[in-house]
Amino acid sequence: MDMDKLVSLCKRRGFLFQSSEIYGGLNGFWDYGPLGVELKRNVKEAWWRDMVSGHDDIGVPPGAPEAYEMCGLDCAIIMHPQVWKVSGHYDLFHDFMVDCRESKKRYRHDHVRGRWVSYRDQKIFVTTMAEPDHEQAEFQQKALKFFNLRGKDAEQLQWDGEAVSLGKLKPPTSEVLGPDAKALGTLTDPREFNLMFKTIIGALGDETDSAFLRPETAQGIFVNFKNVVDSSRVSVPFGIAQVGKSFRNEITPRNFTFRSREFEQMEIEFFCHPNSSHAWYQYWRDRRFQWYLDLGLSRERLQMREHHADELSHYSTGTADIEYAFPFLPPGEFGELEGIAHRGDFDLRSHMEGKLDPATRPLQVELGPDGKPKWRGSGKDLSYRNELTNEKYIPHVIEPSAGADRGTLAFLCEAYHEDQAPDDKGEMQTRVVMKFHPRIAPIKAAVFPLVKKDGMPEIAQEIYRALKKHMVAYYDEKGAVGRRYRRQDEAGTPYCITVDGQTLQDRTVTIRDRDTLEQWRVKVDDVVDEIRKRIS
Ligand code: ATP
Repeated sequence: MDMDKLVSLCKRRGFLFQSSEIYGGLNGFWDYGPLGVELKRNVKEAWWRDMVSGHDDIGVPPGAPEAYEMCGLDCAIIMHPQVWKVSGHYDLFHDFMVDCRESKKRYRHDHVRGRWVSYRDQKIFVTTMAEPDHEQAEFQQKALKFFNLRGKDAEQLQWDGEAVSLGKLKPPTSEVLGPDAKALGTLTDPREFNLMFKTIIGALGDETDSAFLRPETAQGIFVNFKNVVDSSRVSVPFGIAQVGKSFRNEITPRNFTFRSREFEQMEIEFFCHPNSSHAWYQYWRDRRFQWYLDLGLSRERLQMREHHADELSHYSTGTADIEYAFPFLPPGEFGELEGIAHRGDFDLRSHMEGKLDPATRPLQVELGPDGKPKWRGSGKDLSYRNELTNEKYIPHVIEPSAGADRGTLAFLCEAYHEDQAPDDKGEMQTRVVMKFHPRIAPIKAAVFPLVKKDGMPEIAQEIYRALKKHMVAYYDEKGAVGRRYRRQDEAGTPYCITVDGQTLQDRTVTIRDRDTLEQWRVKVDDVVDEIRKRIS
């Protein structure tokens, strides 16, 4: 699928707009239009319903080690600044960046890869941002250009060592040829960027009143763990879910909404006994993977990627990413939709004792130069007592952390289809159809009177109003009926209901299926039940 076609459909039909577009847009920020808002709400509602409100707290779900409870939270975006110091975000939530003085571009230090090459008595470190598969060709092209050579002189170049990331090599910057530079030594030394958005609390606030927009929703759950345990009757194992905005000052927002600076997360922190934590980790991995399949992502484009030991965070004993083959990625590459991490007792312990030192085993509180905790925890007891056995312990955490915008983007990519359908004259035409799963389709049914007379609009409006009590429905009486179908196909509406001449005689209407184009007749009074049955 051509990504440009999807992007233009999204704007044309009101799924997604660039934020503040009339002022030229703001990089990394997006607005959901009338269709997009319904789609994204449906994604979030499906998640909430399937994970939280529809969860059976009493029975054992298939694949789960035992029965468990689920509840929700809705926390403030701005939290006590200490939260981010203790969680490690304040110290660790950064990328090292280099700027190019010549091209004025900025790169993530570890994304720039390069290789030593010499010609006659000059040796340089030539770099590129190309994918590893294509990088050697890029290196060669850049080196030839730099040394003023032609393609046929390529064998005169002497390559030294393998290609490595700039972050690993740290050559003297004076010998580095930047990815988009013509001259040597134009890259700055790497600089740290904190990805958290800073803000000031209070009208007269100064630096000491600074706070951060949350970069994840998870911390709101951890700091409320005790509140939830004390105020509701949940017992371990149980999960707390939250859906909400997160903010990251991403250096290179790109790929449509995939990497945005403001986005929404759907996160669960699942608290369990350490002994059963691995079984729960397996359960949540599989459960979350199946969720995307159930909502229509294809098995071929979805993958579960278990992290290698050297990729894991210092506290995690298992992390898997659910990834989707987004069409903007090169063939064979996948982008993360959701991460499922076994976080051990890292988070609750940090909020009790203070920021933990990643270099220690077992983890110990990180100390400052004065020998005191670098960032103090709350000092509150966040352990859990099993009332039956009296055992007291700090629960382990399994965290399925999904992005609502990335999920929505994957559903948009998956839905986009072009096929052939007859127009009003019966001639085959290419049609664009968004084949959303009915649960997430923005509009569930559209109702058309074939013509704007003979009492057809009245019957169509009656059906429309009856449908509206249960679902998002749309009424359209403008233009040729074929064009009305096309508009609904582009919006991804699964069913179109048409009132025609026969309706006036026998009070039946046609229902048309978006995907099969099949049409059949039902009684006007049965339309609501029929559509409800089909979209559930
Ligand atoms: P990436 O490596 O792609 O930056 P991450 O591993 O930092 O992602 P997490 O911190 O695990 O992401 O966040 C959980 C989920 O939140 C991700 O799986 C993704 O769906 C979503 N997410 C994270 N960053 C962004 C972003 N900049 N824009 C949109 N969604 C995001």
